[in-house]
Amino acid sequence: MSKTYVPAQLRRVVAERTKNCCAYCLQPEVFAFCSHEIDHVIAEKHGGETVAGNLALACKLCNTYKGSDIASVDPESREIVRLYQPGRDRWSEHFRLEGAELVPLSAIARTTVWLLELNRAERLEERPFWLASRLLSWLEEVV
Ligand SMILES: [Zn+2]
Repeated sequence: MSKTYVPAQLRRVVAERTKNCCAYCLQPEVFAFCSHEIDHVIAEKHGGETVAGNLALACKLCNTYKGSDIASVDPESREIVRLYQPGRDRWSEHFRLEGAELVPLSAIARTTVWLLELNRAERLEERPFWLASRLLSWLEEVV
């Protein structure tokens, strides 16, 4: 959740990185009912700064689930694991698409998928349309 005003120019830079798609669930903004938001990857309350490297475009749902969290409990190991950090972590090292499902390749991804409910039913229903839109071609570029 962002408390600090993010200048339009900075928002554009961050949004462009994922071509206006949510950096977590991959939803293109044009498919969303409300505008995507700017997420502080490391929340301000933990000392995260309002700079491009610490910001990510996130849909309303992902930003709400994530809140100011930077870690959670891995549903498998029950260890505390940090969350996926868009812009710092390489997407392809942590996730793989299997049909519409985001398959976690790391404990970091598993914990993020769980906390942000990245594979909840309606997302699995909608994601094929996001993929078919070709708006996710940035995944290949960014990864
Ligand atoms: Zn999202």
